[in-house]
Parts: sequence; C-alpha cells; structure tokens
Amino acid sequence: MVIQPKIRGFICTNAHPEGCAEHVAEQIRYIKEQPKLNGPKKVLVIGASTGFGLASRISAAFGFGADTIGVFFERPAEKDRTASAGWYNTAAFEKAARAEGLVAESINGNAFSDEIKQETIALIKEKLGQVDLVIYSLASPRRTHPKTGESFTSVIKPIQAPYTNKTVNFMSGAVSEVTVAPATEDEVRQTIAVMGGEDWDFWIHDLLAAGVLAQGAKTVAYSYIGPQITYPIYREGTIGRSKDHLEQTAHELNRLLQDKIGGQAVVSVNKALVTQSSSAIPIVPLYISLLFKVMKEKGIHEGTIEQIYRLYADRLYKEETPLDEAGRIRIDDWEMREDVQQEVDALWNRITEENLAELGDLEGYRQDFLRLFGFGLPGVDYEAEVDPNVPLTRA
Ligand code: NAD
Repeated sequence: MVIQPKIRGFICTNAHPEGCAEHVAEQIRYIKEQPKLNGPKKVLVIGASTGFGLASRISAAFGFGADTIGVFFERPAEKDRTASAGWYNTAAFEKAARAEGLVAESINGNAFSDEIKQETIALIKEKLGQVDLVIYSLASPRRTHPKTGESFTSVIKPIQAPYTNKTVNFMSGAVSEVTVAPATEDEVRQTIAVMGGEDWDFWIHDLLAAGVLAQGAKTVAYSYIGPQITYPIYREGTIGRSKDHLEQTAHELNRLLQDKIGGQAVVSVNKALVTQSSSAIPIVPLYISLLFKVMKEKGIHEGTIEQIYRLYADRLYKEETPLDEAGRIRIDDWEMREDVQQEVDALWNRITEENLAELGDLEGYRQDFLRLFGFGLPGVDYEAEVDPNVPLTRA
C-alpha cells in the first residue's frame, strides 16, 4: 500500500514502516558518533517503543553495547491498517541491534499488569540473567490496577481554578485562547494512579523479589517541570501531581535499592519535546514551538536521543551523579536556562496567529510530529508501495 499521513486532531492514526526505520537509523547514527564512555550493559526499558523510552533503548544498545529488553503496548498491521509507529520502530531497532550481535528482545503487552511483569522477569532470566538498568518511560491515558481491578483514566487539567491561555492547533497553525476546567478530586486521584509512581514501585519490587536486579542496579523514571506559563496545566495540574508522586516514589525506591543491592532509583527531569504524549496537552505545543525557536538559534536544541545520551554519559554513569536540591537529575538544564526562558516569555506575550510562523518554530514542531510516525524522512519514497506487515519476533 502507499502510506500517507492520516491526521486527526493531535493524533496521526497510521505510520510508515520505512520512515520509522529511517527515524530509528538516524538516532543510531547519532549515538554511534558519540564518545564511548561508561554505561549500562543489560537494560530493561518499560515504554521502549517511542519517545524517550525508545531513545533510552537506542542509546543503551548503540552507545554502550547493552543488551536490551523492551516492553511496550503497540498495534500490529491489520488488513488495510498500518501498524503503530512504535511497532515499526521496534522492528527496526531489533534488526539493527541483532546485526551487531546484541540481545534485543521485546514484549508487547500491558505493562501495568502482573502477567506482563512476570513474563518480563522470565525473559530476563532466560536471555540476560539480570539487568543493571531499568528505565521507566510509560505515558498512558489509562491503567487498570492489577490488584483491585479498578480502571483509572488520566486527565490533563488544572487544579482548583480554570486556566486560560493561548494554544495552537499545530497542524493548521490556528492560535486561539483555550480555557481548561479544573479537575475534580477524583480526576486528580485517577491521574496519579495512572501516571504516578505506583506501577514503577510494583515493577521494582517484583524485579527485586525475583533476583533479576544486578548488584548496584539503577532505575530511572522521567519527569518534567517546565516554565511558569505551563505550570497551571502541567506542573501544578493533575499531571504535575502525578510527577510529584513519581518523585516521592523515587526516594522510597532509592532507599530500598541502596539497602538491598547498593543500587539507585532516581527521577530525571527531561526537556519538553514533541512526542505522541506531549502533543495531546493544551498550551504546551505553543510553548514548545517558541522554545525550539530560541534553543535552535542558540545552538542548544536537543531531541530525545541527544537528551538521553547526555543523561547516561554526563549524569547517570559519572563517578558522582549531579542532582538538584530535590534529588533529581536535570537534563532540562538548557531549556530552563534564564536567558532561554526570558526570551520565550517575551515571545509568548507577542505571539499571534499572524506572527507565529516568524516568531515560533511551528514548522519544526510539525516536522517532528510527522517524523514520530515515519513521515518526512529524507531518502524515503512516500509514493512507493510498501508492505505494512512487518514482523516482531515475540509480539
Ligand atoms: P511516548 O508516548 O512517546 O511513549 C510512551 C511509551 O509507553 C510507548 O513505548 C508506549 O508503547 C508505552 N506504553 C503506553 N501504555 C502502555 C502500557 N499500558 N503497557 C506498556 N507500554 C505502554 O511518551 P514520552 O513523551 O516519551 O513519555 C515518556 C515519559 O517521559 C513520561 O513519563 C513523560 O511524562 C516523560 N517526559 C516527557 C516529556 C516530553 O516533552 N515528551 C518531557 C519530560 C518527561
């Protein structure tokens, strides 16, 4: 079939297998050009198929020669429907990693369930023995609690008061004012249940109990803080509450791992980037398009792969990992630089639909968004027939 992007709102409902493979190949090439330093050797990535999790897997394998197991929830191709991007990304990753003699195994299923945790443990025992790094990079709108069966839905809303600000429809370029109603107490509770630290905690306890965490193993989960402009919708909203919970969980897990295996649990605060998850948040895409403009002009722009290489090489595997006052790793340091934030702030006040193309990097946003699904990659013939059925070994 000939595959062209099918966009609905902030979602692209199809993906291009060769484009996704090229997107993965680009990240592999970047990583291979970086200096070879200390890093992980046997890695479990939970949420390994797209965004920061995929970059974590690629960096570990091609930057540090790590064997990896990836867990994710993706859709295979069916009749006239393509597979999801994460499916194609993983197929390309597995092929490239195995060509270099690395173990690259994947589990496609619901990471929140006890079954997938046990399946993963069995696979670690079979293929790796133990892991020395566990990356937790899930982003999901829903979770069913494995013990109680309760189903939770996460929402992206402010807390207590409604929040009004500018937002952009990044496909059409329309700038408008949006008002987001505050969450109810129950919505806050459910969002924390989905995106907070409970499931990470369950994973680490299960892995520890099964004896598959190596002596000194580390685990990292990803968080975000961002600027004042997005505080009401992000850091001080429902999603921020779940990040508070995740960060609290890191402290508890850190004590546990230190005590049991001399290990470490830590949260890394990452930069705002275009991923399937961040595109769904109101106001944030407009902020990201201004941020990209400023960071690109200053020559300090990074994508997920650059961020994660820096996380491993400059933070996690340094003799001493630098942490902020709350015990977190910060690789959002360039985003949060005072000069960057001041310039973004000044732009924010001036931005309108008419001047967005000039003052912001909406085109860069759009390109990044399409690339997530394998569209707009150089060297890929988008007019050519392509087979959407790409196998994954274990899924
Ligand atoms: P993403 O949507 O690109 O990736 C999410 C991953 O989770 C995918 O691999 C998906 O398959 C997997 N997943 C979702 N539900 C699952 C389930 N039930 N079972 C198994 N796998 C499942 O998201 P992302 O933006 O890379 O986000 C990853 C983490 O990074 C999140 O914690 C997010 O808050 C954080 N973060 C994101 C940004 C950003 O700007 N995108 C910035 C800082 C931190």
